[in-house]
Amino acid sequence: MPSIQWFPGHMNSGRKKAAENMAITDVLIEVVDARLPAASSNPLIDELRKFRQRPCLKLLNKADIADPAATKVWLDHYNGIPGLKAMAVSFKKQSDMAKVVGWCRSLAPTRGSPDKQLRMMIMGIPNVGKSTLMNGLLGRKVAAVGDEPAVTKSVQRLEIDNSHVVLDTPGLMWPKIELESDGYMLAASHAIGTNAVLEDEVAYFLGNLLLKRYPGLVASRYGFDIAGLDGVSLVEKIATKRAWRKKGGALDIEKAAMALLKDYRTGVTGNISLETPQSREAMIAEKRAA
Ligand code: GDP
Repeated sequence: MPSIQWFPGHMNSGRKKAAENMAITDVLIEVVDARLPAASSNPLIDELRKFRQRPCLKLLNKADIADPAATKVWLDHYNGIPGLKAMAVSFKKQSDMAKVVGWCRSLAPTRGSPDKQLRMMIMGIPNVGKSTLMNGLLGRKVAAVGDEPAVTKSVQRLEIDNSHVVLDTPGLMWPKIELESDGYMLAASHAIGTNAVLEDEVAYFLGNLLLKRYPGLVASRYGFDIAGLDGVSLVEKIATKRAWRKKGGALDIEKAAMALLKDYRTGVTGNISLETPQSREAMIAEKRAA
């Protein structure tokens, strides 16, 4: 696959502000995408947390469309790390959102009164659900929630009630692309804007991954035999089966690629996780060996 330049050069522009805000934070809430928890985190968050010795609630959001078996493995993995509490959530559910403050209180038991407010900061890469959580915690709309990355921009410090405060957007971080597959996984999951990459390359990557990890779901979603297919031929077959053609008669590959991506992004294909701790270890080992 070609090497893609995912970002311009300002990936860590939020670093200084995040470090300043960490000093006035009791509990850090890191939101990641449950379908790709490592690729959708930024190691800087962990670095800052350790430097300031702040506990962290790591929320694996969008668990409603992730693979529950993979999510469980990730939770066991993260919950073995000191200073970290990891939980799987779906911010589509008000009942999950309602638990977040209690989890934060358990990490900072001396805080959470009018004299000693519990100060929480939400951090995460674009499109993981930070604004949705913010709105849910505050019970009102304070930040634009949209399906396009990086809608959240300005800094906000907001009271949930007189004992609980939440800082919002200084926590916007760009993902750190440690492995090339991270870039593809993030693009497939819409954490990286669609204009930044070639969507069909991303669809081929996703197709290969889905065929390997979830062949049954792919077969039942598209209703054809998938034996012997790879990402490219899967996309072609979707276009052929649906008779998607451009003017002049050529197969409309872009349309089929978009359909594959959209089905994954919206959870229509099924409950899918793109990585596990084991698959990530294997990718890292492969990179070292190369
Ligand atoms: P932010 O960029 O991190 O602030 O992310 P947003 O809060 O704007 O959410 C990004 C997109 O993910 C929106 O389309 C949300 O509706 C969607 N979203 C947020 N939480 C969940 C969830 O738990 N499950 C699903 N399926 N979608 C979610």
